[in-house]
Amino acid sequence: MRIIMKFGGSSMADAEKIRHCASIIQSAAEQNEVVATVSAMAGVTDQLIELAEAAASGNRTVKHTLLGALRAQHETAAGAIGADTEIHRILDDLETLATGIEAVGELTQRSRDAVLAYGEHLSTALIAKAANAQPLSGREAGIVTDDRFGEASPLMHITCHQIKERLEPLLAGGATVIVTGFQAATQHGVVTTLGRGGSDYTATILGKALHADEIRIFSDVDGLMTADPRMVNDAKLLDGITFAEAVEMGQFGAKSMHPRALEPAAEAKIPVRMANTFHPDAPGTLIAEGAPEGGSVRSVLMLKNVALLTVSGAAMIGRPGTAASIFSALASEDVNILMISQTVSEAGISMVISKAQLTRASAVLDRKLLRTGLVKGVQVDRDTVVVAVVGAKMHGEPGIAAKIFTAIAEGGVNVLAIAQGSSELSICILVHADDGPTAVQVLHTAFDL
Ligand code: ASP
Ligand code: MG
Repeated sequence: MRIIMKFGGSSMADAEKIRHCASIIQSAAEQNEVVATVSAMAGVTDQLIELAEAAASGNRTVKHTLLGALRAQHETAAGAIGADTEIHRILDDLETLATGIEAVGELTQRSRDAVLAYGEHLSTALIAKAANAQPLSGREAGIVTDDRFGEASPLMHITCHQIKERLEPLLAGGATVIVTGFQAATQHGVVTTLGRGGSDYTATILGKALHADEIRIFSDVDGLMTADPRMVNDAKLLDGITFAEAVEMGQFGAKSMHPRALEPAAEAKIPVRMANTFHPDAPGTLIAEGAPEGGSVRSVLMLKNVALLTVSGAAMIGRPGTAASIFSALASEDVNILMISQTVSEAGISMVISKAQLTRASAVLDRKLLRTGLVKGVQVDRDTVVVAVVGAKMHGEPGIAAKIFTAIAEGGVNVLAIAQGSSELSICILVHADDGPTAVQVLHTAFDL
């Protein structure tokens, strides 16, 4: 088999854990062709962001402290693994870059990406040494993106071509290859990053390009669950779900993958296994094409920190274009709308948005709509959560909504808004934040999960 493996930051937290990941890679490589990709060591990407900002604002003390901490963390691991030479060189380069940013006194998205990419450079050097594998940067592996620094998108055609061209000979020669996660480069060779959590994306890009048989994503949990076990005692591990279900779950913050990262695997129909680094032989959750074994509802999830925004006014009734003006006003401020509902009476439109964007949203509605008299009021409910029931087989099955609302009512929970996408992959209910856990529990019980 040809297997792509990805290890997250918590699996790479120290030398001992890195050695453990290396042993998983090496034992798989006895029987298979293995390409692995890794995240930065736990916490490192956040520290690099701070470092870049401290350097740009001329905050020498903070810059110094952060560089010291990064050095200590990586040098300790390097000492245990025997990768001192590699790690010193990379750390020196990072320090030079930080000093350059300090001298310029400015942090562009481009230089920020250059700094962020160091986390994966360092972790890759460590694990490549421990696993006796060949390290390649994202650029060397052939991952080419556009120049949207911070959240670059791969140019898939050329990327797949280059990865194949560069990695196939190495695999044919019996090498195990480790590619730095999260980072890539533009067509001109300038370093880019794929967005936070982007190492998963690296794994699926590699999987697609190399026609892998399986992509294994290792983290510190056993796989995807029927609910958050911190909220529901008898939450169970899901053996298998479809790509569509996994994308839906990812949107509601499950420990799934970012929907963007699942795309290359879904397109190429390559199964993705979510596995636990610390129980590597457990089967985990398999995300794959084809109907899952199980009921129509697979999982109950909760999306926290959202707010309900209701725009109302009699003038809106029967007046085409009102919704458009509301949405374009919000779009002009980059406010992302998670859920929308309007009743037939048309006297109000309710939208669910992230709490972090609430101030911006209210301000722009005030400026662009309230003052023009098009709408009469904007009402805000800031302590809400979205509870989502997800499952592909809900599609076309009558009675699911009835069961949801009966369970919710019996649980004494008041529903503020409801939405179902036409894909019928999920039904979302907005409730008060205090009621969220109860809603999740009663639904988990009602559907026998
Ligand atoms: N190190 C990067 C981050 O923390 C990428 C990743 O972990 O996947 O976002
Ligand atoms: Mg990470």
